[in-house]
Amino acid sequence: MQQLCERLAEAGYLHRSGGNWHWVQQAYPADTVSLRSVTSDNFVIIDVTGKSDVSGESDGEPEVIGEVDFSSALTTVHPKAIYIHQGQQYHVERLDFEQRKAYVKRVNVDYFTDAIRYTQVRVLEIAEEESIAGPAARAHGDVLVRSQVVGFKKIKFFTNENVGAGKLELPENEMHTTAFWITLERELLAGLPFALSDRQSGIFGLLYALESMATLLLMCDRRDLGTAVGERPASPGIETDWQEFTTAMSDPSQMKEFFEPNLYLYDAYPGGIGFSEPLFRVHDLLLRRTRELIAACPCEQGCPSCVGPVGEKSEHAKEAALKILEHLCA
Ligand SMILES: [Zn+2]
Repeated sequence: MQQLCERLAEAGYLHRSGGNWHWVQQAYPADTVSLRSVTSDNFVIIDVTGKSDVSGESDGEPEVIGEVDFSSALTTVHPKAIYIHQGQQYHVERLDFEQRKAYVKRVNVDYFTDAIRYTQVRVLEIAEEESIAGPAARAHGDVLVRSQVVGFKKIKFFTNENVGAGKLELPENEMHTTAFWITLERELLAGLPFALSDRQSGIFGLLYALESMATLLLMCDRRDLGTAVGERPASPGIETDWQEFTTAMSDPSQMKEFFEPNLYLYDAYPGGIGFSEPLFRVHDLLLRRTRELIAACPCEQGCPSCVGPVGEKSEHAKEAALKILEHLCA
């Protein structure tokens, strides 16, 4: 504490007087800590219903109805998104990325929007790595997560019918964080008695179930963890082509064959919040419980409680995920 105070004094934050340290900066220290999220860079949502001009510089005071944090903004208030605020639907007319503002108008529609996001994870540094049964490996370390919202789907209420889609050109988002990952080696995948699309669905289904179980073991929120599948790089830090990666589970035809996939569970906050090392540690329990979860689920081909909704995956996703786990738990 003494050393810390001396450092802060050198930096001009503290002043020593009569054996006590006093805060001498004008800024209030708690001010820099957001209670809502790690990032303080929020987007303001402005209701422009009734105004013809959506530039926000038109007549009258624009009405600010809320804020979304930076990480959620690109998926919830992208142009043409339906944003729900206090039970009311709003259509996003324009997103001013630079100014961190979203202009919305009140609407009443029978659909919601679901953003399509591509995520790429690049391993920067491996902290620990170990071979496991499978053949496979587990590791944790520092990663760079790059994501981009490239489009959205319009989904009808109640029927979940896809009633439209759109492309979006939004800035890429980069985040340095920590991750835990499992590498499925070539031998394991090649030995699976399934077609390529079933294997791919099995991989994504397994990751979905792993995330659910990790959330439970860590006692965190599902949104605190991010998931991605990517090719194991030849060595850490190697840049892989952006197009090589896709987590577009909604479009099985876009799935490429992974040679040796890494299944990432990353901390969804810049800098990481300490989930990766514990996951690496409880790895055996994580795999065992995930296997129990999928095996005990009464659904036939997959559901949101086990490997994820069936509509987005092949009909053998559940079987394939279980088969992979069988190898990993051997
Ligand atoms: Zn199920």
